[in-house]
Amino acid sequence: MVCPACGQTKLFRGYLKVTPVCGHCGAPLGLARADDAPPYFTIVIVAHVIIGGMVWLERSYAPALWVQAAIWLPLTAAMTLLLLRPVKGATVGLMLTLGMLKSGSDE
Ligand SMILES: [Zn+2]
Repeated sequence: MVCPACGQTKLFRGYLKVTPVCGHCGAPLGLARADDAPPYFTIVIVAHVIIGGMVWLERSYAPALWVQAAIWLPLTAAMTLLLLRPVKGATVGLMLTLGMLKSGSDE
């Protein structure tokens, strides 16, 4: 995941912590207040895949309830953890494109 403005430096300095200012191009990435947009988008994506898969499996094979739980619960956790970071990166990139990374003072 790299800076959405220049593509040269890292966007994150932790799992989800955004670098305050890009060390290469100076983009004010830390001003991105993504709030709960990344988890919201992640839930929308994960829910469609998991619920779709669950319904398909139930209609096709009707496995025992514990089989359904053993498949979908860990898959939900794994997908959420794997998708949250790229989805947040995409959200910050979108906010930068839309001009949402400006501080209030220079308006
Ligand atoms: Zn940059």
